Amino acid sequence: MRGFIGRRMQRTCLGRLVLGSAIAFALLVGTTPGGAVVKAPAAGDPGPTPGERAGFVSTPTADETQAYLNAVAATCRHVTLGTFGYTASGRPLPVVFVQDAADRSATAPDTTKPVVLIIAGIHSGEIEGKDAILMLLRDIARGREPAIVSHLRVVIVPIFNLDGHENRGRYHRFVQWGPEGGSGTRRNAQWLDLNRDFAKLESPECAALVRLGAQFQPHVFVDLHTNDGYDHQYDVLFGDGVDPTLPGARDRFARRLVAATIEAMAADGFRAHEFGYPVDDLDLTRGIASYGIGGPLAHSYFQLRHCISILEETHPYIPYERRVRSTDSMLRGILHYAVEHRIELVETVNDARATAIRWAREPGRHALALSCSVDTTRARTIQWRGKAYEVVTSGVTERRYTRYRQEPVTFELPFYGELKPDRTTTLPRGYLILPAWRNVAATLERHSIHVESLTQPFTTEVEAFRGSAPRFSAAPYQGHHPLRSVEWREATESRAFPPGTYWVPLDQPGGIVAFHLLEPRSPEALVNWNAFDAIFEPGIITEDWSLEEEARRQLADPKVRAAYEAALADSSTGLAQDPDARLDWFFHRTPFVDEEQNLYPVFRVLGPGPGTP
Ligand SMILES: [Zn+2]
Repeated sequence: MRGFIGRRMQRTCLGRLVLGSAIAFALLVGTTPGGAVVKAPAAGDPGPTPGERAGFVSTPTADETQAYLNAVAATCRHVTLGTFGYTASGRPLPVVFVQDAADRSATAPDTTKPVVLIIAGIHSGEIEGKDAILMLLRDIARGREPAIVSHLRVVIVPIFNLDGHENRGRYHRFVQWGPEGGSGTRRNAQWLDLNRDFAKLESPECAALVRLGAQFQPHVFVDLHTNDGYDHQYDVLFGDGVDPTLPGARDRFARRLVAATIEAMAADGFRAHEFGYPVDDLDLTRGIASYGIGGPLAHSYFQLRHCISILEETHPYIPYERRVRSTDSMLRGILHYAVEHRIELVETVNDARATAIRWAREPGRHALALSCSVDTTRARTIQWRGKAYEVVTSGVTERRYTRYRQEPVTFELPFYGELKPDRTTTLPRGYLILPAWRNVAATLERHSIHVESLTQPFTTEVEAFRGSAPRFSAAPYQGHHPLRSVEWREATESRAFPPGTYWVPLDQPGGIVAFHLLEPRSPEALVNWNAFDAIFEPGIITEDWSLEEEARRQLADPKVRAAYEAALADSSTGLAQDPDARLDWFFHRTPFVDEEQNLYPVFRVLGPGPGTP
């Protein structure tokens, strides 16, 4: 039945074009933003990093960072440089590859080696990750990290929000200590927060990162930040809040990786803890809770692509140098754990990916979370190294708030580290999207999701959704007025789909991502980002006087009158309070009602899809 499927949409998706990583590494070499072809025969020493030279009072600019990367690559044949896209302002985005030089001549990648993707500066004011990466690369160039070079393939994005990074100032982060020389902005040049763009994918930076991820299929993803908020004694909080409904056993591996890395960091003299926020800002003794999953954030996104996905937040109230060094320690801890457990790591992630594809071929049988929140019924007791605090009443707002003091205090309190699904939905075989919604198909393609286009009509049973009572955000958010709530009504129906209809099968590498973008109740659904607003607009003009006359005509029928009076008396209808709803009640008994109005033009397919057996 393959012939049933017609042309693939304009660009072939990267999911089908995955280059052997060794080849891809090689292809990207020599395209440094400075135009230098970097190739060096032997290990050497690029010298101290720019941050070290500046005593960590300042962090290097993009040009200074690139110059140091060039020096690293010139002295170390295991480090190569490239670009993987362009910022909104047109700056080339640098990427660094660490890979045993002996592997580069191979025609196929060594798939037994884990791939680790590390990004720094998604919020470019939180930039110690970049300085830590330069220290790691310096030691790699000096030959001090042979195990990382021999056993891993590491892909590093040192400055992800590059436009924000170059917009430097001392007042871009309200709470953090240093670097005194200033740092970049949270937003990119489009005024978007890149860490809220992993559903709509409107920034070229996020689109490029998703492409990079689809190409290299990392086993571990690490996203480096600086925290905001409460005070404590830890240098770093980090973790992988795992959606328990996703396939595979990544959660067990992630927990052991985090625990082992915390131990390794302690040996380096740094304090780290699994990531969490106070349950109650005014009463720490109520405990610390991990973060939920759901939403267009980088670490959530790469979890949907089955990575061990680590969010790192350094403590904002420690000196910049300590933030850099603790991040460096954490990165080495993660990388060394990945080296020591490389076979299990590759097997665990590959198994999760294979299971996700198998589940998509068993439609309706596997329920996945649309979002997860912290399970407040499951806690373990921890010794939390916090700071003394008092709760005071504000003279400005008259509200109570927490004022931290500097004395260290150890609290025994509950830690809520388990997540539970808020709502689950079964995986379908795929989704059919009506041909008019080209923009949605294009967004899926930016996600490196394979989309096909039907060449013949296709009739099948589908699950359809109709939405009512939509409410949109009044204030702009990330360039949108998102859909905040809507009541979806589901129906199973047989529908005929014309040629040109888009078919999105879920048995592909980005299948779980597609599920979250298209399943209308998912928090990450494109419908929430205004992709389908027009379906909520009325398709026919009515006048009050003509509706009044229609109501009067209908009420002449005693059966209709009885039904109307019953509906009026039923408080759940809201008719008693809403005159317009009363007219609407009569309108919905006329043949002028358009059955397609409010119809979500994306349909769940639970049986065989077009072209599938
Ligand atoms: Zn951040």
